[in-house]
Amino acid sequence: MEITHVAVIGGSIGGLTTALLLCDAGFTVDVYERSSRVLSGLGNGIVVQPELVRYLVERASTDIDAVSVSSSTMQYVDAITGEQRGAVSAEWRFTSYDSIYRRLLELFGTDRYHLDKNLVGLAQDGESVQLRFADGSDVNACFVVGADGGMSTVRQRLTGVTPQYAGYVTWRGMVEPADLPEATWNFFDNAFTYGHLPNGHLIAYPIPGEEPGVVKRLNFQWYWNVPTGPELDEIMSDCHGIRLPVSVHAHALCPRTLSELHRRSETLAPMFREVVKASPLPFVTVVSDANVKSTVHGRVALVGDAAITPRPHAAAGAAKAAYDGWTLTDALAGSAEGRVQRLKEWERRQLAVGRGYLKKVRKMASRLQYGGDFAPGDPEFRFGLPREP
Ligand code: FAD
Repeated sequence: MEITHVAVIGGSIGGLTTALLLCDAGFTVDVYERSSRVLSGLGNGIVVQPELVRYLVERASTDIDAVSVSSSTMQYVDAITGEQRGAVSAEWRFTSYDSIYRRLLELFGTDRYHLDKNLVGLAQDGESVQLRFADGSDVNACFVVGADGGMSTVRQRLTGVTPQYAGYVTWRGMVEPADLPEATWNFFDNAFTYGHLPNGHLIAYPIPGEEPGVVKRLNFQWYWNVPTGPELDEIMSDCHGIRLPVSVHAHALCPRTLSELHRRSETLAPMFREVVKASPLPFVTVVSDANVKSTVHGRVALVGDAAITPRPHAAAGAAKAAYDGWTLTDALAGSAEGRVQRLKEWERRQLAVGRGYLKKVRKMASRLQYGGDFAPGDPEFRFGLPREP
């Protein structure tokens, strides 16, 4: 299979990492991103896994201290009584989506990073792939990488697979240290905290600050079990009454939904209640996942959430996207003759890692969301990707 020009659909962590690696391997690469503006993760926290920062460390000499903060403990707390259920020593680093994305984009540059390119059509013959965007433009590429996330159009076109709602939503938000009582900030600082509930759970951990001089902020998530139907439709409808498929951002939240968040936070122990109430811009996202039978279709390959979409509980979704980029580049680089065979082998390994990860996060959810026994420090649920088989 001859390849010179690669088109990457989706310019987030998976798309940019793959694009950078393919450029380093000698391919000409263009990235097509649906968003009309440079992306923002709304301050989302990400637990640092080696695969996530591998490009930044190995190819761009990035100082990890400059883009992340550290912690030394995992603590497990009853989120209603505030009683501690356990704590273990655990060294983790935390970063934010924006810190990683901005650095990757800086390295790739904007010349071949095309915003406002929403892929709507894809066809291929033996020689090339033809892409159609919503603005009416067409692009031809020798090879296409679908890195367009959990609602992937590329995956939908190739496999018909769409993500399945997992039965719960997650509230996310960010709090500045100055907006919390000192004792509450100290409680969450230097730890990854699980807040257990009979019907859901919370997590909280510090991430790098955004404002100059502010070293850290607190990132939290609160997972609510919500059955499909009117209750879910109400939470996922914005202030104009439009039912949104994935997220309702803070500026679009219905005042009634925000009041419900604050009302429910009254049932939490003071430290969790204070965090939820102090968050100025909370937003809500449905949790979904998706599995696929194949990730290579002729001259198209799927990576990251566009391949297998995992739930977030083992903190390695972005790392999986980066891992797919590294391993796909290994398969594409080198001689044209063996490429089809190498892609086949890549797909086998990628599916094994992705399915192993999906199995792990689904099992974590079955304990975390339904009041099950989530033992402190259980090695089965250690964050990260499973090893390659
Ligand atoms: P995405 O980041 O989803 O990017 C897809 C991109 O494609 C987007 O920029 C989108 O605009 C673009 N796109 C979509 N459709 C089109 C189209 N038709 N045409 C062109 N462009 C398109 N991961 C971790 O590693 N650690 C964590 O701690 C962590 N926490 C998480 C918490 C939550 C609540 C959630 C929901 C996820 C979390 N993740 C975490 C997972 C992580 O966010 C994703 O796994 C990761 O972002 C996947 O990267 P990606 O590049 O594959 O897809």
